[in-house]
Amino acid sequence: MSAATPLPQERRLVTAIPGPKSQELQSRKLGAVPAGVGTTLPVYVSRAGGGVLEDVDGNSLIDFGSGIAVTNVGNSAAAVVARATEQLAAFTHTCFMVTPYEGYVAVAEQLNELTPGDHDKRTALFNSGAEAVENAVKIARAYTKRTAVVVFDHGYHGRTNLTMGLTAKNMPYKQGFGPFAPEIYRVPVAYPYRWLTGAENCAAEAAAQAIEIINKQIGAENVAAVIIEPIQGEGGFIEPAKGFLPAIAEFAKANGIVFVADEIQTGFCRTGQWFACEDEGVVPDLITTAKGIAGGLPLAAVTGRAEIMDAAHSGGLGGTYGGNPVACAAALGAIETMKSEDLNSKARRIGEVMLARLREIQEKFADSDRVRIGEVRGRGAMIAVELVKPGGKEPDPEATAAVAKACHAEGLVVLTAGTYGNVLRFLPPLVIPEHLLAEGLDILESAFAGV
Ligand SMILES: *Cc1c(COP(=O)(O)O)cnc(C)c1O
Repeated sequence: MSAATPLPQERRLVTAIPGPKSQELQSRKLGAVPAGVGTTLPVYVSRAGGGVLEDVDGNSLIDFGSGIAVTNVGNSAAAVVARATEQLAAFTHTCFMVTPYEGYVAVAEQLNELTPGDHDKRTALFNSGAEAVENAVKIARAYTKRTAVVVFDHGYHGRTNLTMGLTAKNMPYKQGFGPFAPEIYRVPVAYPYRWLTGAENCAAEAAAQAIEIINKQIGAENVAAVIIEPIQGEGGFIEPAKGFLPAIAEFAKANGIVFVADEIQTGFCRTGQWFACEDEGVVPDLITTAKGIAGGLPLAAVTGRAEIMDAAHSGGLGGTYGGNPVACAAALGAIETMKSEDLNSKARRIGEVMLARLREIQEKFADSDRVRIGEVRGRGAMIAVELVKPGGKEPDPEATAAVAKACHAEGLVVLTAGTYGNVLRFLPPLVIPEHLLAEGLDILESAFAGV
């Protein structure tokens, strides 16, 4: 099979962004797709790969989004295409719960091996991140015979009914969509930049507050699971202060609570490790994955301790499409690429380049009366800047939107995030060439200058 012509790894603007063909498609979209399905940048893509997205007007945009941390291995990565194509021609679906196939088992074996801890593990596959989180809750409840679920401020876990309830932010995720599932409790997270008594007190105080709420308001003996993102994604790339995750994990262990790491956004080399919780040596009981797992095909997983995973009765877990054979083949190709191209090193290199440059930009605008970077943070290729109003820490969502818009107009895809909408987040594909990374950062700097 011959690979498609490789995409030139360059930024190229031949029309305004969005161009006329994209605008035409956008007007068709508005007539065919409901308003609730929003679009960050209405540029219609025709091809993508490496560090670029090519649109229907012939523009080539630098990708700092990876389709929200999905195309870690790049779009249409060779091994993903080869394996998925072969599988597509062999068979497309049998339903693993009816007549199984090897790909599912092979992906489960890979996840059991790659996730933290050398204990006996099992993996179940699903279609989306939200579905994985829902199933982690089902499994934890079956195992503990308890009902309460503890989640954190600024957390994001999906858009289904249960996962909307687990998600912190109201707008746009929850507004008007309730009532939500019961037995969900939210506790503080160690957000160093905004911790009132200072970053140095943050881990210990936040852990103490969270644990006190669990003990006094819920009762630890009623808690089935605590679910936490090792770096919060939609919440604004908040890295919990060092020590917080281990403290929560230890408390969970001491109280028979299943500790669930939601690594849906942080997993698969994104942060320079296979999984972000490795940075503090935390070994979760269960770990949810999706996004980066299969090079863009829909696949998700729950991986964890065999005795917990096996607590659900036969037939209790599953779904028609869960672990679709084409998605499994793609995942095997993606994991192969992560290993053969050492994408953990690539992610760490991206982090070094970005953090250094962003700190320079922060410095450069330190006295600006229009736009300020309050904090530069993140690990590997999961990097963000939090924008604040000059003179304090008040979030500045308007400046954030303005910078993002200016980047888009220049052909750089960036995303925003954060409870206050004041975080610009950068999630380039891990295979982005370094010259595009540098060019993207130049565009970002100009966008700051233009606010
Ligand atoms: C994206 C995300 C989810 C939801 O995944 P979907 O595939 O969109 O359902 C859950 N948790 C985290 C941390 C995420 O980033």
